[in-house]
Amino acid sequence: MKVLILGSGYAGLTVAHRIREHSKDIDIQIVSKSSLVRENTIFPLLLTDEVKVEDTEFNAKDVMEKKGVNFVEAEVEGISLNSNEVKTSKGTFDYDYLFIALGGGYEENFEKIPGHEFAFMHHTLDGFLGLKKALYEAEDGVKVFVGNAQASPIEGPSYQVALIAEYILRKRNKDREIYLSTQSPKGVFGILPFDWVSEKANKYFEKRGIKILKGKYVKEVKKDKVVLNDGTEVYADIKSVLPTLSAPEVVRNSGLELANNFVKVELPTFKAYKNVYALGDSAIGMVPAKTARSAMVSAENAVSSFLRETKGIYLPMYSQGVLCIMEGGDDGGILRFDKNSRDTKVVFDINRNYVMFKKMYSRLLVNSAFNVKFHASLTI
Ligand SMILES: Cc1cc2nc3c(=O)[nH]c(=O)nc-3n(C[C@H](O)[C@H](O)[C@H](O)COP(=O)(O)OP(=O)(O)OC[C@H]3O[C@@H](n4cnc5c(N)ncnc54)[C@H](O)[C@@H]3O)c2cc1C
Repeated sequence: MKVLILGSGYAGLTVAHRIREHSKDIDIQIVSKSSLVRENTIFPLLLTDEVKVEDTEFNAKDVMEKKGVNFVEAEVEGISLNSNEVKTSKGTFDYDYLFIALGGGYEENFEKIPGHEFAFMHHTLDGFLGLKKALYEAEDGVKVFVGNAQASPIEGPSYQVALIAEYILRKRNKDREIYLSTQSPKGVFGILPFDWVSEKANKYFEKRGIKILKGKYVKEVKKDKVVLNDGTEVYADIKSVLPTLSAPEVVRNSGLELANNFVKVELPTFKAYKNVYALGDSAIGMVPAKTARSAMVSAENAVSSFLRETKGIYLPMYSQGVLCIMEGGDDGGILRFDKNSRDTKVVFDINRNYVMFKKMYSRLLVNSAFNVKFHASLTI
């Protein structure tokens, strides 16, 4: 049986590890742009030199080929559901089962923001390195804006960038104004159905001198300002923006059913079509937030469904929640929201020690090539 995995991020590699762990005879092939994979959830700590670039990366081809998984470095160009084939820059690959894990099309969506060239995107390595240079070169009176475009399903990185920017400029004794826009009118973490969380979070950000622009998203970037959805113009020297996300174009063109531009899947199995699973940032999930943890959980559930169907092996399935460990320069925090039919767990706390956990977890992710088994998620 041939399994083809598209993408070697959190979701794609989790699929490969878990199938191989339970079956040695399945032919597994990964097609992904690059064998160099980066653990991007730790990128905010590059700004403060708490981690180095080399701490964030590993060679996925080397790791996977030792496990008997074929890894092809190629660009996915087309998916044909009728013929069970995927066209790539290095030829066409056929499959019995397909796992689509091509992420959330960050770059292609960022380029759709008018004036994006005047902003950093705090997602790519280049975006973080550019932002870092700008923060360390900034002069007195610098104005910084951090925010998201419309319906952008991940605000946690923006919160961290705003806090770290405040920290760096404070340590450099620079007068500063820092603006953070939040899509929710309730402010930071306002997307959660618990007012106490956003009230506590807003107070904390305000105490750090960050001005929260609630219920606003970025419509356009100009050389010296950002234009928000209600026409508000925020003058800023340094602008950093996360785009809205969608399944990448190559996935949207595959003929799979879409919902809000993500692949529509059955939950909790993440099955998108009879022999196709769509995972992570490419798929509609159980919660709006698009995170690495959710990507790994989607992969665990898809493999569980696949092994049940093909081998009669029963593995657990998990619910997706929200877990955000925030780096804030000389402080840190955690937000956890997990729910299944029996339990709801909600934690919001500010404490620098959480950053230590984040660093440890990141090491675990890098050293194992994303082969972690406990995602602190509740089982279904
Ligand atoms: C700064 C930042 C901080 C974050 N912090 C957290 C956090 O603390 N916790 C958390 O859970 N999440 C966090 N996230 C979110 C997390 O990074 C994403 O949700 C996660 O990367 C999604 O995993 P994925 O496997 O779906 O996609 P990705 O990790 O994006 O993997 C997609 C893969 O597909 C490949 N690919 C894409 N297109 C093609 C193509 N056409 N051909 C071939 N290969 C292709 C890519 O190269 C990549 O290997 C953060 C995100 C950012 C930007």
